[in-house]
Amino acid sequence: MTSPGVQDAADVLKRVFGYDSFRPGQQEIVDHVVAGGDALVLMPTGGGKSLCYQIPALVRPGVGVVISPLIALMQDQVDALRALGVRAAFLNSTQSPAERRDVEQAFVSGDLDLLYLAPERLQLDGTTRLFDQGKVALFAIDEAHCVSQWGHDFRKDYLLLSALHERWPEVPRIALTATATEATHAEITERLGLGEARHFVASFDRPNIQYRIVPKNSPQKQLLDLLRTEHKGDAAIVYCLSRASVERTAEFLVANGVPAVPYHAGLDARVRAENQARFLREDGLTVVATIAFGMGIDKPDVRLVAHLDLPKSIEGYYQETGRAGRDGLPSTAWMAYGLNDVVQQRKMINGSDGDLAFRRQQTIHLDAMLALCETVTCRRSQLLAYFGQGGAAECGNCDTCLTPPESWDGTIAAQKLLSAVYRLKNERNQKFGAGQIIDVLLGKETEKVRQYRHDQLTVFGVGAELSEPEWRGVVRQLLAQGLLGVEGDYGTLVLTEASGEVLGRRREVRMRREPARAAKPARSAKSGGTAVDLPEEAKPLFERLRAWRAATAKELGLPAYVIFHDATLREFANRRPTSLADLAGVSGVGENKLSKYGEQIIEVVAQEVAEEG
Ligand code: ADP
Ligand code: ZN
Repeated sequence: MTSPGVQDAADVLKRVFGYDSFRPGQQEIVDHVVAGGDALVLMPTGGGKSLCYQIPALVRPGVGVVISPLIALMQDQVDALRALGVRAAFLNSTQSPAERRDVEQAFVSGDLDLLYLAPERLQLDGTTRLFDQGKVALFAIDEAHCVSQWGHDFRKDYLLLSALHERWPEVPRIALTATATEATHAEITERLGLGEARHFVASFDRPNIQYRIVPKNSPQKQLLDLLRTEHKGDAAIVYCLSRASVERTAEFLVANGVPAVPYHAGLDARVRAENQARFLREDGLTVVATIAFGMGIDKPDVRLVAHLDLPKSIEGYYQETGRAGRDGLPSTAWMAYGLNDVVQQRKMINGSDGDLAFRRQQTIHLDAMLALCETVTCRRSQLLAYFGQGGAAECGNCDTCLTPPESWDGTIAAQKLLSAVYRLKNERNQKFGAGQIIDVLLGKETEKVRQYRHDQLTVFGVGAELSEPEWRGVVRQLLAQGLLGVEGDYGTLVLTEASGEVLGRRREVRMRREPARAAKPARSAKSGGTAVDLPEEAKPLFERLRAWRAATAKELGLPAYVIFHDATLREFANRRPTSLADLAGVSGVGENKLSKYGEQIIEVVAQEVAEEG
């Protein structure tokens, strides 16, 4: 247990968490809150927000109260802290009255360092009385974007948080979020009354994540390939748009020998909780999910986040991909993207019940997402620019940096395609989707072509210079650039105002040519894979340590990463510690874990050495 009394933040960082240095931004925030200041912290997922309130809570007298919307994850959060020797507990509706009384007792008598609280408990008079009876070191407001009424994570009870300051003005507040846009920032500031607080906006770059967006051919197979090669044995999150495709994809993976579980809002609550728990606890499981999955999942060793469908906004995409590689080790954010994604999403927006303003907003989001997919420049610098952090150099760790796509002058191709759309429509005002238009351009004598006598048109067969996939790429990019539109339930293609500029030769169209083979960076590049860039001779020990960790985690009923992170095991595997003093120097080994697991690690290392002879 941590000793009471005044402690220095750097000392707590080392002794309790076992880390040698703060990550960028952490120290300033910690110092500010320790000194009693209010703070609003914008930091990307995996940036290390938790320490920013956990350390001040340990340093300041009293109990740090953490408001967190994620009841299902409180147990894990508290377990992880206890494994470090921190006195942590939670209060929420899942507990019996007796359990809650015990926690309240500990709070009042000052036997707690951190107390996690569900926001709805702020409504209760009992909570106010409780805070008055004990000493609160600080209020931490986690996932602070939940106060934003327009975001999809809105929680009504978060509006109650503004009262905290009026009631306990001397207690510092620290609000944290990974949502970076200006609008959310402003809304959090206003609703939580943080105008006077210091605002800390960290860099949103996540340099260890490799961003890749590939043409979608057969997405399930492409995914399987990734999970069998680069990410064999890794933990992965796969996002799909619909529940049905979640189910199908999970089944497909299992049938092909990749351990996977589904997660979506349509599943029975028990099954959902169980699948989430398995994902957190087991090594190397894939969860296939809708975007209902992920907030607050702080599993540090997710090596791959895959999108099989186009996300609706860059905000969403960045939050989701940010769940990869929180531990700072190389990880992959991979997306398969194709023509149908664009058609689907444009259709969804057109057919939505929202008013014009809403649809316009959705279109802006989609266009930004499409621009990211079609870019011929660095994906990362484009992402950062979106969050107002422009001016980044080429990153060297995204697919466009690693295998730069060529761009080509697609003006003539665009003109041919747009004329075909125009001609086909003119014929009896029928409208057609991409398939028929491409068949006509390629001069294919299909039944449907003959039925509508499209073989009689002047555009029939004028597009033989491109292949079918290439034409699909043309359609996709014209849609992405707004030079072509889509209408109705069947995704029929229509001209837009801007189409006229291309047809009238007043506008040139640049297009992206996909690299012949989709970027698959060499394994030696910074791409993922848990054991990938370990020296060959360290791998057997790493695997042995992982097996020890899995067994220990199972025995204690804890997620494996709560015992030690991969990064820490890797360092053990490299250094082969033979004494407790050796071990204490490794990042991630605090006092508590040293005394609990130190001897066992030395034993595992000794076994490996003996076996290697
Ligand atoms: P966030 O909440 O911002 O997504 P977390 O607080 O969960 O991020 O931190 C991400 C991971 O980084 C955690 O596993 C945490 O233990 C680790 N971490 C945080 N700060 C440091 C540090 N100073 N040194 C090493 N690891 C750190
Ligand atoms: Zn790049």
